[in-house]
Amino acid sequence: MEYKNKVLIIEDDKHISHFLGTVLAANNYDVLTAETGEYGCAVINSHCPDIIILDLGLPGIDGWDVISSVRKWSSMPIIVLSARNSEADKVAALEMGADDYITKPFGTEELLARIRTALRHTRTSAADDGISVNGVFKTGDLTIDYAKYRVYIGGRDANLTQNEFRIVALLGKNAGKVLTYDYIIKQLWGPHAKTDNQILRVNMANIRRKIEKKPAEPQYIFTEVGIGYRMAESDRIKQENMVNT
Ligand code: CA
Repeated sequence: MEYKNKVLIIEDDKHISHFLGTVLAANNYDVLTAETGEYGCAVINSHCPDIIILDLGLPGIDGWDVISSVRKWSSMPIIVLSARNSEADKVAALEMGADDYITKPFGTEELLARIRTALRHTRTSAADDGISVNGVFKTGDLTIDYAKYRVYIGGRDANLTQNEFRIVALLGKNAGKVLTYDYIIKQLWGPHAKTDNQILRVNMANIRRKIEKKPAEPQYIFTEVGIGYRMAESDRIKQENMVNT
């Protein structure tokens, strides 16, 4: 599997949007575009992009409204791309929850670098030090490599699909905690996704066949019946707990 991050460009200037889309597609991103704030929010809710590039001045609801609506349910990275270069605008956007702010005109290399940084921050904002320092989560024979978007079992690539990887990556970042079915679906498919628990269960069955020795007696991802799923704690946490008890 080749993992492609999904980028949503919300920008009403067709030239900029087209140019950006071309650059990002050439750099191995899946590109979605929206020309208005309303349509942007609809795409966010139905496609759950990995990152958003957002213009502030938009017809209809503007970029500010988009930021506040996303921040109600998701920490997905948002990079503001704006012609407004006043410090007050930058500070306001960052305080509202934007991750970065780039002023037009911008250099493509700089934008690509900022996108990579923002994506790295989200995947490493986890509580687990192993993830934030090395980009890797380890428990037993299971390794999640957040930089390579791959899961290994005993060093062998488990060949997860993109959605399967996203589920395991989310559970790994929250290892030891139960994530509800609703929460997982919302984070992966968006708050208004027409995805039900059944689709999540099918994905989980496939994941277990790929990563567990005995799928019926999982040692990595546990089912909390009627509630959700929980990833086993990382080796590092397990060791700390042994020392402390
Ligand atoms: Ca604009």
